[in-house]
Amino acid sequence: MGALTMYLSIKLRRGVIPVIIIVSIIITVVIIYNSQCINNPVLSKQSEMIFKVVVDPGHGSIDTGTSYGEIYEKDINLRVALLVAEELEKVNIIPILTRKKDKLYMNSRQKDIRHRPEIANKNKADLFISIHANNFPSSQPSGSQVFYKPGSGESRKLAEEIQQELIKLRQANQRSIKNGDFYVLKKAQCPAVLIETGFLSNPTDRERLTDPVYQKQLAIALKNGIINFFQSRLSGKRQEKTLRTNVSLESNDEHPSYQLYYLTDSPTGILLVKRKLSFPTNNFFKQEYSNLSFKEIMIISAINQLLDPPDNLISPLPAKTKIDDVKINDGIATIDFSKETKTSFSGGATVELYSLEAVKKTLFSIPGIKGLNILINGKKGDSIGGHIFLKETVMK
Ligand SMILES: [Zn+2]
Repeated sequence: MGALTMYLSIKLRRGVIPVIIIVSIIITVVIIYNSQCINNPVLSKQSEMIFKVVVDPGHGSIDTGTSYGEIYEKDINLRVALLVAEELEKVNIIPILTRKKDKLYMNSRQKDIRHRPEIANKNKADLFISIHANNFPSSQPSGSQVFYKPGSGESRKLAEEIQQELIKLRQANQRSIKNGDFYVLKKAQCPAVLIETGFLSNPTDRERLTDPVYQKQLAIALKNGIINFFQSRLSGKRQEKTLRTNVSLESNDEHPSYQLYYLTDSPTGILLVKRKLSFPTNNFFKQEYSNLSFKEIMIISAINQLLDPPDNLISPLPAKTKIDDVKINDGIATIDFSKETKTSFSGGATVELYSLEAVKKTLFSIPGIKGLNILINGKKGDSIGGHIFLKETVMK
């Protein structure tokens, strides 16, 4: 027993330094890995496409922020923030408010200020947007100004996008973005900005900031800045990922994800040509798609991209094709194409065969789509060219 204890203690003493080294290496790797994720918040999104934005109405309760007579900053911040949340919801972005009422977390300013960035970090938010109003000893200064997290290029980019939208809204918002050494920005692990919406000390700003119409316009400008930020990040990725690979219909490829299949003619016959399906940067944040799921939006986007083929490739669907409806239930997608899919189709039997194959391969490349029902003008069992009837649900 004594010998074993001694042996173990020698082993342990010898082992202490290597163990410390190994643990430090692991910690370093984890820190580097995490900071990379934080620096590229959007780039890891392509598979899930859930965007979360923390909207932080500055101050609350006994902490009124700045004021002008009976007009308190905390109230303006909250009204604008609630409108921003409403706007974001319309375009598939999940808003997370740090407060929905006139209150402070645990009734303590200290705890409250710490709690705000924690909400962003706990929810793994993509962005943190803090909303404030300004004040100045003279009534001269006016306009909005966006501050970004010190040393964060992504935050700077977000600030630029938002400031641009604010300038579009009102010329007086022509102030330059600035580094903002604020606690909430520094503690948020995602890109973070603080927006001074205007000056309560300036009569015109004050009138606007208390006007529900301007508050709404302000919220829309912030939403547009956020969308532009996400879109610029996602389209960067799209270009990197574009592939050019030819596959024939016979080749047994293993259903790579997010592919488009076009037709082309070759000396050996018709071929399917594969291209990378791009993330629908132009569709995803559209208000009309807000009640569709991510996969349903991907289907619409895939069909739209098929209908707009690159040079020298042919769309498997007639140019006049429209989508009347898309639904996914338990992985089975039902797509209702407009009657033009049939009335404008001019190919023969082979083209019909390859066209359907291209559409199927494209849609089955969207992860989670297991089966396909193709309707034409609301009817099952029709045919686009008269050679193949679309009766049964096709499984992947
Ligand atoms: Zn403030």
